[in-house]
Amino acid sequence: MADRPLTLMAVHAHPDDEASGTGGVLARYAAEGIRTVLVTCTDGGCGDGPGGTKPGDPGHDPAAVAAMRRKELEASCEVLKVSHLEMLDYADSGMMGWEANDAPGSFWRTPVAEGAARLAELLRRYQPDVVVTYDENGFYGHPDHIQANRITMAALELTGMTPKVYWTTAPRSMMQRFGELMREFGGDWEEPDPAEAAEMPEIGLPDEEITTWVDTTAFGSQKFDALAAHASQGENIFFLRMGKERFTELWGVETFLRVQDGTGAALPENDLFAGLR
Ligand SMILES: [Zn+2]
Repeated sequence: MADRPLTLMAVHAHPDDEASGTGGVLARYAAEGIRTVLVTCTDGGCGDGPGGTKPGDPGHDPAAVAAMRRKELEASCEVLKVSHLEMLDYADSGMMGWEANDAPGSFWRTPVAEGAARLAELLRRYQPDVVVTYDENGFYGHPDHIQANRITMAALELTGMTPKVYWTTAPRSMMQRFGELMREFGGDWEEPDPAEAAEMPEIGLPDEEITTWVDTTAFGSQKFDALAAHASQGENIFFLRMGKERFTELWGVETFLRVQDGTGAALPENDLFAGLR
């Protein structure tokens, strides 16, 4: 094989997505001796500030929030034993429809070609065998997640590189269980209005369409601790309230849709590196 370590690159939108979305595979593959590279596209400045302040509230300073979240991200990477952290440092665009979407320097407003060129540089430097990012809907429609998908797919095209490429997803069966746990643990999550839900692309995939199921339950504790490093963010506190055992039950198996492959590894597969080692 090549004269460099097998390499996994995960392209995420915000500090904390690496933990919630791919904490299991980052920890597992690091433990298997694979080099792991995390690219975080935005500074997370639209996240919660100290005391749970929200963007636009008095006392919410996006620059201070970004600085705090950078420290949290570094701590999370230490827990997950990420080999290299690369930050593109675009401004967090906030949720769809927020004014921050169009603020100067926002990731959402950045031309795809510009972000792709910067990511292409990292692809050439690290030569990943496996690249993971979000699906075209950014899993749940967040503009920065959608943009991460767009720049990743464009960067791959720019370089002509052909790693295995995956989009994170969730099985619908699990989304059901998720709803049950949300109710049990009192998350401030409401059943979506059926009319609104009908207009939104459905989250996740039917179980039979998922190509790749990676068992990371042995790394559930690390994934939990990585998320705990991001405890300043309200939505993470809810998951942390579950405790390690329930958290691992819910998030222990990470699922992906394989969208590019040069190995011919049979599907469904249980390893992002199937066919590569
Ligand atoms: Zn995010």
